[in-house]
Amino acid sequence: MSFSLPALGYDFNALEPAIDEATMKVHHGKHHQGYTDKLNAAIAGSDLEAKSIEEILGALSSAPTDKQGAIRNNGGGFYNHSLFWQVLAPESDASEGDVAGDLVTAIEGSFGSLSAMKEQFEQKALTQFGSGWAWLVSQGGGKLVVASTPNQDNPLMGEAIAGVSGTPILGLDVWEHAYYLKYQNKRPEYVKNFWSIVNWKRVGENLSNAEAGNSVIG
Ligand code: MN
Repeated sequence: MSFSLPALGYDFNALEPAIDEATMKVHHGKHHQGYTDKLNAAIAGSDLEAKSIEEILGALSSAPTDKQGAIRNNGGGFYNHSLFWQVLAPESDASEGDVAGDLVTAIEGSFGSLSAMKEQFEQKALTQFGSGWAWLVSQGGGKLVVASTPNQDNPLMGEAIAGVSGTPILGLDVWEHAYYLKYQNKRPEYVKNFWSIVNWKRVGENLSNAEAGNSVIG
């Protein structure tokens, strides 16, 4: 199968003021589309066409050797952005009141409190040098960790490649293309404003799916 650019569940301007319309248009329509097209080109004609994106990312070393770099970068880019759009929501729909049930249990059990988790996540986002992502990662049994990865790497790729393993349930893109038009060099401001548009209800659903071994982006 080939992968398709997922539609956004909201308008390009719906995340303002945290993320501006112009950034969303180029980020979704150009960057994410580009990763999608290049992933499809990299797997064309191989048995990877029959696999899910999670299966592909989880077994990079079994991909054709000359395609591994392209699949790592573009498969990661395809997956990471698919997750990113889903964990964002307009401010009016983004409530920390939705940090409830198993999600709040896991966060408090793993970090002590939501505010402690957010502080550690921000630290990961701010200290990722250059391009990459910050993650809240489910490792099963209610255990969560925060991590950052360079470029388009993802915890699904495993410890040996990504330096962390598990299923990401929340991600923040800290590539400059994600914030430069509005924030220029002010990554800390972008990271701080991110919290106002986190779709916590979806993060909770992602945790349930991750714990059950289901796709979180399906
Ligand atoms: Mn991006």
